[in-house]
Amino acid sequence: MGRIALIAANWKMYKTPAEAKAFTDAFLPLVAGHTRDQIALFPSVTSLATVVEAVKGSNVAAGLQNMHFAEEGAYTGETSALMLKAVGATHTLIGHSERRQYFAETDEIVNKKLHTALRHGIVPVVCIGEVLAEREAGLTADVLKTQITGAFAGITAEAATPIVIAYEPVWAIGTGKTATPEMAVEAHKIIRAEVAKLLGSGIAVNVRILYGGSVKPENASALLNEEEIDGALVGGASLKPDSFAAIVKY
Ligand code: PGA
Repeated sequence: MGRIALIAANWKMYKTPAEAKAFTDAFLPLVAGHTRDQIALFPSVTSLATVVEAVKGSNVAAGLQNMHFAEEGAYTGETSALMLKAVGATHTLIGHSERRQYFAETDEIVNKKLHTALRHGIVPVVCIGEVLAEREAGLTADVLKTQITGAFAGITAEAATPIVIAYEPVWAIGTGKTATPEMAVEAHKIIRAEVAKLLGSGIAVNVRILYGGSVKPENASALLNEEEIDGALVGGASLKPDSFAAIVKY
């Protein structure tokens, strides 16, 4: 207990700056004064500055969905930690399953990005989770442990405090199939135990583990009222202000 939940919107490749502004105009009044949980929006790169500007002075943070591990360089199409910070953003997702699946992001790359984010004082939300075949083969625990070990290589307990983890079973993302609260809790316990092994129980007790995968207003409270579940990473249901606000107020 004592962990403040983070409810995060992953907009993926949706919303132009104008659409992002329309969202914040409608959303901010709906969650004004909501201090029980932290709230963060992860827009596309081109909407980030608009969102940062719109949420200034509010209880809502802004971040990127992906960030390169290099400070700068010849990496066409990529965005650096310094660029993210220069715009005024504070958070980044790292290793989302769509990055792993479509952009060949490995645990090693995730690890490099995590080091870079921490070095620059950016709050990293490290995404992990098993695919359906792995769950069906009984490999979920092994996969989660491998992903956590890979992501956290060389990370010290002193540096680890800002880290947030998102458990997102890949078979639940965008499919309408949600993990049951029991399944999510079981996975979160495995993850927390692994963090304890790697970084000590002090970090493990405090690290926030979000659940992601078809979170909607209808299932948010069952998931988020579990003590093991410290927030949500929401895709589809975060695109509409009223549905994301309903999740925030689970
Ligand atoms: P979803 O996506 O809520 O649409 O399943 C979650 C995510 O990919 O972070």
